[in-house]
Amino acid sequence: MSVFLNRQLAGLIPYTPGEQPKRGEFIKLNTNESPYPPSPRAVAAAAEAAKTLNLYCDPSAKALTAEFCNYYNVDDVIFGNGSDEILAFCYLAFCEKEVAFPKISYGFYQVFSDLYNVVAEQIPLTENFEIDPATYFNKKKTIIIANPNAPTGIALNKDQLESILAANEQNVVIIDEAYADFSGFSARSLIEKYNNLVVVGTFSKSRNLAGARLGFAVANTELINDIALVKNSYNPYNVNAVTQAMGAVSIAEAAYFEECVGKIVAEREKFIEFLEQNGFYTLPSKANFVFTKPAAASGEELYEYLRSKKILVRYFKAIPDFVRITIGTAIEMDAVKEAIIDWRK
Ligand code: PMP
Repeated sequence: MSVFLNRQLAGLIPYTPGEQPKRGEFIKLNTNESPYPPSPRAVAAAAEAAKTLNLYCDPSAKALTAEFCNYYNVDDVIFGNGSDEILAFCYLAFCEKEVAFPKISYGFYQVFSDLYNVVAEQIPLTENFEIDPATYFNKKKTIIIANPNAPTGIALNKDQLESILAANEQNVVIIDEAYADFSGFSARSLIEKYNNLVVVGTFSKSRNLAGARLGFAVANTELINDIALVKNSYNPYNVNAVTQAMGAVSIAEAAYFEECVGKIVAEREKFIEFLEQNGFYTLPSKANFVFTKPAAASGEELYEYLRSKKILVRYFKAIPDFVRITIGTAIEMDAVKEAIIDWRK
């Protein structure tokens, strides 16, 4: 740390991203990416868009916006360089002094709170790792909830979400839907009913574009304008032309998207059943990962064992009994199952 660093940042602990090893070195199930590549048409669109990189990109992402609003039947959207950037914009736009989010959730929420000098209330989960909606009523501070939550994978249903939205008329409620496409429910349908709702999403998981960095927020136009105010005061050209083009094709190719999501959900269900049969305790995931606890070993032991078999999963020191395993292809999941069966011998 230099003597010149802004003193307000002196104690800041940054987010630690999951490991990104050399391609092919591991079966990579540690950062909840899609195991499927972008479609050939999306790759072709990227090559075409690359030819325009001498120019700045469209700061309002018009073609992508039109495709998105038409497909999702929403009036307005704003895009970011990953949903991490959208969340950062939301902090600046809506989190003046205080924010509340689940104690076990996406680690970046605390980092943003520290970065933007916002006091964070971390609300405990129930003993079953669930979010209790009543603990979010009348907070009088901005609320952020990942739904499905990470790393648990557990989702609130529509009624539960509505109860939180209705009991927080005076503050914004941000629903982070990074994994919602694997759950079959999106709070997008509630935007017209609740003027305090911001739904954040990403193309990183269900749309196979983690490396392209594309996230978004949908909400009523007033709230989107608030986020746009921040974006345009920070980096109007935040989503590059290649990413915009790939995003638009991803939406246009609904069949490819649905096929990829369908395969992942089917593998998830089979894997949860396998884990159950093998004595693991697994939370009921609606995401593209499972959070699971081996019967007679720690999460760290399982993590290390799988690592020795060239399978990379995620282990969190704060929840040492569990590991989080991203759902991969059928072939990858067969390899995980085989390794787990061998481990028990
Ligand atoms: N929200 C949650 C809950 C996440 O798990 C992630 C991915 N780590 C993100 C947001 C950010 O995703 P991205 O910036 O790739 O859109």
